[in-house]
This record gives sequence, structure tokens and C-alpha cells, in this order.
Amino acid sequence: MTQITNHMPTRELQALDAAHHMHPFTADAELAEKGARIITRGKGVYLTDSEGQQILDGMAGLWCVNVGYGRKDIAEVAARQMEELCYYNTFFQTSHVPAIALAAEIAKLAPGDLNHVFYAGSGSEANDTNIRLVRRYWDVKGQPEKNIIISRKNAYHGSTMGGGSLGGMAGIWAQGGLPIPNIVHIGQPYWYGEGKDMSPEEFGLMRARELEAKIEELGVDRVAAFIGEPVQGAGGVVIPPATYWPEIQRICDKYGILLIADEVITGFGRTGNWFGSQTFGIKPHIMTIAKGLSSGYAPIGGSIVCDEIAATVGGAGDFNHGYTYCGHPVAAAVALKNLEIIQEEKIVEHVKNVAHPYLMERWKALEDHPLVGEAALVGLMGSIALTPNKATRAAFASEAGTVGYRCRERCFANNLVMRHVGDRMIISPPLVITPSEIDILIERATKSLDECYAGLKSDGLLKAG
Ligand SMILES: *Cc1c(COP(=O)(O)O)cnc(C)c1O
Repeated sequence: MTQITNHMPTRELQALDAAHHMHPFTADAELAEKGARIITRGKGVYLTDSEGQQILDGMAGLWCVNVGYGRKDIAEVAARQMEELCYYNTFFQTSHVPAIALAAEIAKLAPGDLNHVFYAGSGSEANDTNIRLVRRYWDVKGQPEKNIIISRKNAYHGSTMGGGSLGGMAGIWAQGGLPIPNIVHIGQPYWYGEGKDMSPEEFGLMRARELEAKIEELGVDRVAAFIGEPVQGAGGVVIPPATYWPEIQRICDKYGILLIADEVITGFGRTGNWFGSQTFGIKPHIMTIAKGLSSGYAPIGGSIVCDEIAATVGGAGDFNHGYTYCGHPVAAAVALKNLEIIQEEKIVEHVKNVAHPYLMERWKALEDHPLVGEAALVGLMGSIALTPNKATRAAFASEAGTVGYRCRERCFANNLVMRHVGDRMIISPPLVITPSEIDILIERATKSLDECYAGLKSDGLLKAG
């Protein structure tokens, strides 16, 4: 077999990558021309690439490497589990210790009566499970017509047929015949971009009440559930106005529809509490989890399900659903070790009491930059709205995303991973980030914003649309 290693020249690796590897959410032809940036190592909050550059990962991979890269203790747990029991399934009345121990631990950490875990391999799969779970629930209750799920425009719930349909992203719907039937979408609580002259509080209420109007329009006997991310992540770190979630909760309670909190990003400390639902006062019947559950050390996700749904669905014969890798022993052992680390190192407390307050102070100061209309942060999820006119919160005249892309390229060149969503810049660094690492993040972000601003100026792109 040909050995392909970290020691090969970057150009050779890029050529092989372009020849054989189809990338997610990527124009492969365009990437082939440019060549992928090849990451070879990770330690703490830093990545190393094949050119030996040290990159501060402001996104924790894809919002997942919460305990930081390069943990030997997690690697050892994985190796031990592979030797002891590399795989067994949880179908057909069998179980194993990692799946049992992790479910018990998750039930302990999750609020209220969220005491049951249905495993998946990812967040997308878990949301597919949720579609089937809530429909099955109402079916068993004798209301099979109660099968519509209400979600939101610009939500992200994954990229499978189910997850992509729950999500509200036009780019995903445009390819492959999505959304699937009986999933409908209301407006998002994105005040900065859509709130116009309303106050954030008024706007939050208005967008929440679209849920009530939609339930009335469809008829409550048709609506199974509402799903939302406590804070929209991939949609651009949209932190809802304070009025939004209490009103959504009131409406779900009033009509007795199920509430699914997609905690794939917000779960396990990201917002400064164990779950985003705690930060925003949400009482969900189901939580979707993935990403931070294992800090990305192994692919695993799941649904945390309340007593009532678990008893109803479990009490009605087989639930005809499952994945080969439900509760995979290596992934479960890794996730359990990750949860142990979060508790022993008091990482949630670190976010709440150290990293968030310090980053908040430095992040907010970026609002003095001429390009920045708003810098927002909850826990360690942050956004910067780029604008040509701070007073009006105007969008740029250029096609949406042009400026954001240019800014991201400057960040990349300055060895900082920040992502752009349209013309918003977003961060979600490892939860273990220290104040001195935050200083480096801010220094590189500022330099990148400066360079982006200068470039826009010289290219005549500082115009409002
Ligand atoms: C990433 C994400 C998903 C999908 O998870 P995958 O593991 O990529 O399938 C679902 N919901 C939210 C909120 C996410 O951020």
C-alpha cells in the first residue's frame, strides 16, 4: 500500500485530495485549483498545517472540539475500549457498558425529566430520529394526523434528508428535493438583520408569535412539534432577543405541542451552562445532541427524550428505527471520558466565570472598528456583523457573503480560523481557551478586520446596498 503521511509535500497531498476526495459543502473544482489547506496536528486551541503554520482555531473544528485538541487521556480510553469490545450493537435486546454508562451520565446532566437517550452517529441522524419519534408519539396517542413539525427559516439541523428539511437553508433545499412533506418554517429571531425599526424585544415577540399564527393556520390537531436551536449556529450565531424563548415556551405549553431543542452546538457548556435550554429558560421534551458530546474525538450524537415520550413510544411495541452505530462502544467510551473531563476541570464554570466575561469585554470593543456594526456573544459563541453603515445596520451593495469571504480569507492568512456566514463573522472557540489565548484571537481578528477594511476601501466595496 502507498504510504500517504504528514511528511509528504503539501502540493502532493493537495493533488491526491483533489483527485479522490469529494468535500462537503465545497465546490470541488474550485478547491482543486486552489488546493486544500491540510491540517496535520492539533494541541489545545491550536492546529498545525502541512506548512508548519500554527493556527488558532476560533471555531473548535465545527463547533465541537470543546475540551481542546490532543488529549492523551481520551486517546487511551479509545484504545482500551477497542481492545476490550470494539463493537457490538444495541439492537435485539443487547447492550454494553459504554452505552449504558453514557446514557446514565447524560440523564444525570440533562435538566428535568430528560432521562432517556436514543443514540445516533451525528446530529443530523439524531434529528432524523426526532422526526420519527414525535410522529410515532402522536400516532401511538391515536393522532396520526398530528405530524407537522414547525421549524424556522435559516435554522440548521443537519444535512440528511430529514435534518436538511428541518433546517431552513435555501441552499440545501435547492438540491435534492427538500424539504420533505409536513415540515413548515416560520421567521427567525434575527433582529440585527430583519428587525428594522422595532426594538429587539418587540421583534422577538413578533417572531415568536409567528408560531402561534402558524399553529392556528394549520390547526393544532395537525402540529406535532416545534424545533429550534437555542442560539442559531450555522445561521450566523443569531442570539435571540430575551423575549423570544419565553414566548415560544408559552405557545408550546398553551397548544400542547412538543418542543425540541437542538442543542448540538449549545449543549455541554457552550453557552456557559450545561445546556442552552438552561441559559434561555427553555423546557424541551427532546434535546438533540452531538458535537460537544464527544468534543469531536469520535462521531456520536443522540436524542435526550423525556419520560412521557420514552414511555409512550417504548410502550407500544417495536420502534422501527435504529442505526448500526447507535451507542457505538468506542464513541460512547470517548464521550463519557469527555464528560468526565468537563466536570473534573470545571470547564462549564470556566466558560461562565472566566472565558466568557473576558472575551465579552474584548469582543464588544471590536464595535469600535469601522467595519463592525455589532459584536455579540453568548457563552463562547460570538458573531460580528460587518456593515458599511453602523447607524442603519445596512447590508453591503456587493452580493451577500462577498465581504465576509474576504474577511475570512484575511483571518486564514493571519492564522486564525473564523468562519463567515454571509457578511457575518462567527467564532466558537474551544471552551478551554484561556485569557492569553483570547488576547491572541482578538489581536489576529483585529489585524484581519483592518486588512479587510483597507482592501474594501481600495476596491470601492464600502458601499451600502
Ligand atoms: C452541526 C449541527 C447539526 C448536524 O450535526 P452533524 O453531526 O453534522 O450531522 C444539527 N444541528 C445543529 C444545531 C448543528 O449545529
